[in-house]
Amino acid sequence: STYLRRGLLSSAARSPRLLSSTRLAPSLSQTYAAGMKILAVLYKGGEAAKQESRLLGTVENQLGIRPWLESLGHEYIVTDDKEGSDSVFQKHIVDAEVLITTPFHPAYVTREIIEKAKNLKICITAGVGSDHVDLNAAVEKHIQVLEVSGSNVVSVAEHVIMSILLLVRNFVPAHEMIERGDWQVSDIARNAYDLEGKVVGTIGAGRIGYRVLQRLVPFNCKELLYYDYNALPEEAAKAVGVRRVDDLKDFVSQCDVVTVNCPLHEGTRGLVNADLLKHFKKGAWLVNTARGAICDKDAVAEALKSGQLSGYAGDVWNVQPAPKDHIWRTMKNPLGGGNGMVPHYSGTTLDAQQRYAAGTKSILENYLENKPQEPQNIIIGLSGYETKAYGVRK
Ligand code: NAD
Repeated sequence: STYLRRGLLSSAARSPRLLSSTRLAPSLSQTYAAGMKILAVLYKGGEAAKQESRLLGTVENQLGIRPWLESLGHEYIVTDDKEGSDSVFQKHIVDAEVLITTPFHPAYVTREIIEKAKNLKICITAGVGSDHVDLNAAVEKHIQVLEVSGSNVVSVAEHVIMSILLLVRNFVPAHEMIERGDWQVSDIARNAYDLEGKVVGTIGAGRIGYRVLQRLVPFNCKELLYYDYNALPEEAAKAVGVRRVDDLKDFVSQCDVVTVNCPLHEGTRGLVNADLLKHFKKGAWLVNTARGAICDKDAVAEALKSGQLSGYAGDVWNVQPAPKDHIWRTMKNPLGGGNGMVPHYSGTTLDAQQRYAAGTKSILENYLENKPQEPQNIIIGLSGYETKAYGVRK
């Protein structure tokens, strides 16, 4: 399922294109460029993608930008083959100028890959979350990193609310019981609660975290809390009635439900580890749709097994695709429930795909036409970090 095609030169593309001065050394700013190599690493859509053309983020449907890129004379290589030195990704990254990838099937752009990628100027995330790129290495090599900010934040916030409810209400074992042909209400009800009256807290109160808080308001929770080094504007905090807690251990010790909504970076990798889990309320529920590696895989499985956590749900994994024997697939609480794990899809609903495909095209268009990018999409610009969301920096 590797899609390799050379871009055909259209008459428009045969006329020379002035290269953007931001992509060239100043002395070369009058140089004209031929078609460039654009590499996209997307997930395999299989039969579903053949039947459903709105699955835009797949290798089959290619973000819907092939005709446009080819009409401009560019070479567009699309693949899902991303692991190992023989992969299509590693073969083409050495001279690609643009890399597009999604967080759902990420091409991991390590420091080592960046060293090899001599021609790489811009990494575009078709979606939100650019931790698959070694951002510090990108800064050093002046590689820009952009994402389609906001494109799937409602999609994820809705998934968070669903995940909180399915854990608190003990939904998954109840449904499994029905499929098995059994009917024993007390086995489910013994671990089912209402969300009303519970304390819910978000680690990270950015676009997704805030939308989660907004959606929680009608549930009449006892209290809504947040932990984030960036404070919400006072008006925004007031609108949802959320209280900020400065210390993370103090924060988790007050929550019945914790939802993780911050990016993965040096300051959040393994943030929810065995030590922090000890400070959670006994039997708390944890939802993580941000990035798998923010939570320590084995510590979470252990906390669920011991009943320190009553449930863990999310769609993000420390490695994607997750290996068949990944413990998060099958881990359970002592009553045999509490697992709400699904593959990484909360931010790739058909609605979201339409938005991030359009956003990717618009970032590419700006790049190709040397127009300024939307500031909110820039994670790494030509002179370094332009976001405040990837850790506290000088
Ligand atoms: P955002 O930039 O709007 O908000 C992130 C917030 O996290 C910011 O307020 C930032 O200050 C805060 N933060 C950063 N480090 C922190 C830390 N150490 N402790 C507490 N807060 C911290 O981003 P967003 O649009 O809300 O997205 C957040 C993340 O969600 C993305 O980076 C991505 O990893 C993940 N995401 C997942 C999916 C999915 O499909 N599962 C889709 C979209 C985004």
